[in-house]
Amino acid sequence: MKTNHQPASRGKLARAREMIRDGLSPGRRYAVERISAEAALRASELRFRQTFELAGSGMAHVGLDDRFLRVNRKLCEMLGYSAAELIGRSVKDFSHPKDIGITDAGRDRVRQKKDASARFEKRYLRKDGSAIWVSLTVALACDSAGNPEYDIAVLEDITGRMDQFKRIERLTRVYAVLSGINALIVRVGSRAELYHEACRIAVDEGRFTKAWIGVIEPGSGALKVVATRGNAARFFKRLEAKLNRNVPRGEGIIACALREGRPAIANDIANDPRVLEKADATGSGSRALVVLPLEISSAAAGVLVLHADAVGFFDADEMKLLVELAGDVSFALAHIERSEKVTHLGLYDQLTGLANRTLFLERLHQSLHTAGQGQTKVAVALLDVERLHTINESLGRQAGDAVLKQLAERLAESAGSTEVGRITSDQFAVKFEAMNGRSEMARTVEAMVRKCLAAPFSVHGTQLRLAVKAGISQFPAHGAEAELLLRKAEAALRKAKETGEKWTFYTRDLTERTSDPLTLENKLRHALEKDEFVLHYQPKVDLATGAIAGAEALIRWQSPELGLVPPLKFIPLMEETGMILDVGAWALAKAVADHARWVGRGLVTPRVAVNVSAIQLRKNDFLATIRQAIGRGPNPPGIDLEITESLVMQDIEGNIRKLKEVRELGMSIAIDDFGTGYSSLAYLAKLPVQTLKIDRSFVITMLNDPDVMTLVQTIISLAHSLRLKVVAEGVDSNEQAQMLRLLRCDEMQGYLYSKPVPFEAMAALLQARAHAA
Ligand code: C2E
Ligand code: CA
Ligand code: CA
Repeated sequence: MKTNHQPASRGKLARAREMIRDGLSPGRRYAVERISAEAALRASELRFRQTFELAGSGMAHVGLDDRFLRVNRKLCEMLGYSAAELIGRSVKDFSHPKDIGITDAGRDRVRQKKDASARFEKRYLRKDGSAIWVSLTVALACDSAGNPEYDIAVLEDITGRMDQFKRIERLTRVYAVLSGINALIVRVGSRAELYHEACRIAVDEGRFTKAWIGVIEPGSGALKVVATRGNAARFFKRLEAKLNRNVPRGEGIIACALREGRPAIANDIANDPRVLEKADATGSGSRALVVLPLEISSAAAGVLVLHADAVGFFDADEMKLLVELAGDVSFALAHIERSEKVTHLGLYDQLTGLANRTLFLERLHQSLHTAGQGQTKVAVALLDVERLHTINESLGRQAGDAVLKQLAERLAESAGSTEVGRITSDQFAVKFEAMNGRSEMARTVEAMVRKCLAAPFSVHGTQLRLAVKAGISQFPAHGAEAELLLRKAEAALRKAKETGEKWTFYTRDLTERTSDPLTLENKLRHALEKDEFVLHYQPKVDLATGAIAGAEALIRWQSPELGLVPPLKFIPLMEETGMILDVGAWALAKAVADHARWVGRGLVTPRVAVNVSAIQLRKNDFLATIRQAIGRGPNPPGIDLEITESLVMQDIEGNIRKLKEVRELGMSIAIDDFGTGYSSLAYLAKLPVQTLKIDRSFVITMLNDPDVMTLVQTIISLAHSLRLKVVAEGVDSNEQAQMLRLLRCDEMQGYLYSKPVPFEAMAALLQARAHAA
């Protein structure tokens, strides 16, 4: 119902209006129509004025003479002038001086009706002098005839947006630098490259006018320019000349930044007293600069300096990014340092800092290359630290490490750090260049080794002495390749260890033997089970009377496969595996038995000395083992001990106690290898020992080397003052015997009189002596 009713009532209203109008005379009808048109116009004008006046944008009508005709409230607000102050004046009076001409061309096209409107972004100046960025739209108002009457201008305040934009633009630029530097971190390999690239990016991508990096040299403390960028060769040249060791301590802006560890900004170089190179900087176009401190490494520092061509260039936002940039450069440097460390790890021995095998070979390779061209000789000495294993065992790994470190330092000091490498845990290699012939090499190696070992090594407050054996090979005689030369030195070293010589030259007959320690160990266990070990005896002769004063029992392995194997080939392995305990006990028992057999044959039998390893001495049941071994022999026993390892000096209290008990069993004790081991004369007084054996290496060299002669003399007289008997080992010539007699050495042992011989041969010697006497 309702829906039908409504159109019906609307229809009625319209009809009523028509009736009124139709009811008017034509004249009245015209008047009414005019009045309502005027009213409509007025209303529209009012609406327009209101719109113009109340618009949120600035609006103006500008005459063709560029003078303001009308301005709205917003525009007055924007420019800070009243309408009265604006109207009648040229818009150009309010333009920013740099932007005055901006509108001209576009506006002319609008006035010529070529374009309906034109848009600009430009600055005006406010009454207070500040700039306002506006977006200006210009259109043309024409009269009814279509002639241009005035410009209609609509202005939006875009100052905020423009600031933002400029900022973004600038920050984008710094970001470009930042990301450039970050990319660098990944790919750059060296410091020099990083410095160079950082400066390049700052200038090319960051549009700084100059960039340079200075690094404080660790030695001199001077700031050194390491990279520059920017079209200012003269400036950089003068800069380098001016920087000196005083820079980091001085009053300048660089010193400031370095001292405080934060960036220092000079936003107006010309008026900043801290900028010392002011004239050069401004002369080359710089107006502002920033000094960014860099952390080059934990120890050193540097600066990145950036120049800009505008006063006030460096503001808070820019600085935030630049600080980050400096941080990134520092990070990149740390990264490089880390990767250098990794390479360092691969090439240097961690413990001693010496070159490892790889680097040593590389350097040797280079030396051989140059030596090959110059026809000079190069020698490689491979030094083996004796009994390192035993030091580790008795004093702990740390002690062994400390000893190796000290030795490495001494070697590096005497040979030069680039000439020495640590090849295996207890072997060092030394390279000698420009050597002439064997004798010079031998002398050089000897002298160096002696110098390095002269002073004792101190570990945990105790003094140790070290001995080394050396194998020497030479270029070009033994090979032209580094690897080969080192292998020959290894072969020579094996020989030196076998023969007990201090050093051995490589000779062609030294075939490269490869030993498999595991199978050797197994073979040695079998040898013990099958009783393949034998004792040979070497007589000790009284130097004054020529009588046999004693004998030393020396173990050999009578291998069905290998023949007679000397002890130095298997004792070290036995010490490592602990087998020395069983074998040592066997040797003691065997010596007791052999001694008893000689006595049983009615021979004048001297005392027999048995070698005892430090590994045996260290055991708690050491004494029990000794007691058990001598239990079956006579009392007092005819057996003495030689402590081959001077590590007896460690746990000195415990060893003194043990050795005293050995003494009480009626045995005497000799310190073996004296001078090369770890003992020092000062400690000898404390030990319950009766004999001191001068090492064979001293006996060999004493006649050729006055220093060694002096040493031997000193040892003998000191030993005598401690009431110790002195035995010289390895005497193989009459001259040596003669000299030792002069030096009042008590006994000698060596090939001169007899090599170590089997039981029966020893019996024959004793027999012969008895007849001669
Ligand atoms: P060491 O106790 O210093 O024994 C002396 C070594 O010098 C012996 O080597 C001997 O043959 C050698 N020698 C003696 N006079 C001369 C000489 O005039 N010229 C040369 N070229 N050499 C000479 P060997 O028998 O090879 O023994 C080497 C080392 O093996 C011994 O040195 C000793 O430390 C160890 N050793 C031997 N037997 C045993 C043992 O039963 N137990 C333990 N723990 N070690 C042993
Ligand atoms: Ca010995
Ligand atoms: Ca010895």
